[in-house]
Amino acid sequence: MKAHDGMYIGGAWRPAEGRDTIAVVNPADEQVIAHVPAGTAADVDAAVRAARAAFPGWAATPPAERAARLAALRDALAARAEEIAETITAELGSPLRLSRAVHARVPVLVAGSYAELAAGHAFEEKLGNSTVLHEPVGVVGAITPWNYPLHQIVAKVAPALAAGCTVVLKPAEDTPLTAQLFAEATVQAGIPAGVFNLVTGLGPVAGQALAEHPGVDLVSFTGSTAVGRSIGATASGAVKRVALELGGKSANVILPDADLARAVSAGVANVMSNSGQTCSAWTRMLVDAERYEEAVALAAEAVAKYEPGERIGPLVNAKQQARVRSYIEKGLAEGARLVAGGPDSPREKGYYVSPTVFADVTPDMVIAQEEIFGPVLTILRYEDEEDALRIANSTVYGLAGAVWAADAERAVAFARRMETGQVDINGGRFNPLAPFGGYKQSGVGRELGPHGLAEYLQTKSLQF
Ligand code: NAP
Ligand code: MG
Repeated sequence: MKAHDGMYIGGAWRPAEGRDTIAVVNPADEQVIAHVPAGTAADVDAAVRAARAAFPGWAATPPAERAARLAALRDALAARAEEIAETITAELGSPLRLSRAVHARVPVLVAGSYAELAAGHAFEEKLGNSTVLHEPVGVVGAITPWNYPLHQIVAKVAPALAAGCTVVLKPAEDTPLTAQLFAEATVQAGIPAGVFNLVTGLGPVAGQALAEHPGVDLVSFTGSTAVGRSIGATASGAVKRVALELGGKSANVILPDADLARAVSAGVANVMSNSGQTCSAWTRMLVDAERYEEAVALAAEAVAKYEPGERIGPLVNAKQQARVRSYIEKGLAEGARLVAGGPDSPREKGYYVSPTVFADVTPDMVIAQEEIFGPVLTILRYEDEEDALRIANSTVYGLAGAVWAADAERAVAFARRMETGQVDINGGRFNPLAPFGGYKQSGVGRELGPHGLAEYLQTKSLQF
């Protein structure tokens, strides 16, 4: 596949300071499809300087003009949707249908939402004898993962630009081609030089240099809890703003009167989508003791439709494949009942993992506590609603969740008591304006919609 051999810094593709490259691999067939430069601290420094230089001009650009550039960005992403989908399929491995319907489409919605929010936001408000100004925080260091390669970029860059911030992006090493396409789209959208900058590279090198750079005012990170914790510590040491979107172990709570078939089939689809590489996936299904076996049978039947290589893609790389398979081994060793899948690879080539379902999972098991980040569903049994609530809230995470009940009021009453940032009621649809982010160790801060915009603003009060 075509790739730039430079970094996009200060409005131009410039050669990297070092000579190292990263091989981009197609996880479906393990073939190297491209190489991109592996950025160093020197490249990060050049990008941060470019972003700092562009900041005063972009911050002073009228919000309506920033909104117009974001609308143009939305249009550029929409016009290149097919190329984006094919690129994501090549470097992430997701089936083309999913790449089109989700990976390429959602970022268009999110960029569009920020075009509107930038145009409509009250960047000034009156409070008593004060005028409160909502000013951009400054230079943003954005570090993104590979699981939703374009969405994760747009969910940070679009609100940052809407707020008047400038950005340096360090995308995941597994999916740099999507990031390069995004950089091209910013050029097509007429976003001024230096407002958006891209440094491809490895996390512990380029990512760390970005998180530690004194010229960065806010670090926005999405990824693993381990890395997030260290970025948070670095940022607080420097008294710098930080947003962390980390892992999840979300509960799908099926209350006793819910439509079981619908809830189980939606729950299985939610976990298997993107090969389970979704931070908000409902990886714990909670079913009442009376209908438990029925739910297990329904789940096994539903998961059988996920043929590896057809409806479900591989994992992103060999390391993730090995990690997920070791969790499946762990589940077996812990005594959970395997009802579908297992640790063996379903295909000779490619980083595939069998879609797996475990029953008789208890809340204390590792597979019920830790984020697996693969196509692995755990099904837990509860006695009554209080028990279900206790189990739902029994992990360190709190990112998402679902509640199903015949009566929506009953589901809402339950959702109010869940320690989590989002809950879908009876299969509620994705809303690109709804704040997304974690309670507990799922993170700090919110992305998307007006709450996501607020992350990139700081306030100044003028008294009269
Ligand atoms: P990760 O290492 O946390 O990667 C996320 C991003 O951080 C990538 O751009 C990564 O670069 C970068 N990074 C890594 N080490 C860094 C450091 N020391 N300083 C600054 N940046 C650094 O995640 P992963 O290894 O790809 O995945 C491991 C696990 O994380 C998964 O199994 C899953 O549990 C979780 N995860 C969660 C999400 C989410 O959406 N919340 C997304 C992905 C993964 P490289 O690409 O070079 O590593
Ligand atoms: Mg990593």
